[in-house]
Amino acid sequence: MQRCYIGLGANLGHPLRQLRDAARALAGLPGCRPGPLSPLYRSAPLGPRDQPDFLNAVAALDTVLAPLDLLDALQHIEAGAGRVRGRRWGPRTLDLDLLLYGDRELQLPRLTVPHPGIAERAFVLWPLADLCGEDFRLPWGSDIGTLKRACPGPAPERQAEGLGPAGGGVELDGNE
Ligand code: ATP
Ligand code: MG
Ligand code: MG
Repeated sequence: MQRCYIGLGANLGHPLRQLRDAARALAGLPGCRPGPLSPLYRSAPLGPRDQPDFLNAVAALDTVLAPLDLLDALQHIEAGAGRVRGRRWGPRTLDLDLLLYGDRELQLPRLTVPHPGIAERAFVLWPLADLCGEDFRLPWGSDIGTLKRACPGPAPERQAEGLGPAGGGVELDGNE
């Protein structure tokens, strides 16, 4: 089993519903056991500003799936949420990014792990710190607390509601 972290984001349709459905879909993936879910954050869009704010969270997932098989599964869940690939960083019903796959570093045509945006994205660093703690080190050695302090832009806005039935930071029932 490898401990992975998946970044979830949405800003079209019903973002909260899509993120909740996605968390449930992740928990139900074969060969995977769900870990904790971070609280939910709201933030202004990256890139083009003529689109709604995003809701983001991070989900921990333990998996026996190989990295590209996990990416396929994530893209299948995105497609099921009606994701249409438009312009880069444009609006979307669901984005599932593989942030970390254990401590592996991969540079494949379809997959870069750790996700190259982690260090500059507040909407990734804040929920990742909620799950892993600020002392958690990424495979290249930086700790999340240091990255948070160096991260440009405003902190994302933590939401009162969470992805799970009892708010943020809950364990989902998996298919053991
Ligand atoms: P960004 O990756 O900068 O957040 P994005 O999420 O909007 O941008 P997508 O349109 O979701 O980008 O994905 C574009 C391609 O990125 C995918 O087809 C996928 O093959 C590739 N990709 C590379 N590394 C990863 C990763 N770690 N997680 C998810 N997709 C990845
Ligand atoms: Mg993304
Ligand atoms: Mg993506």
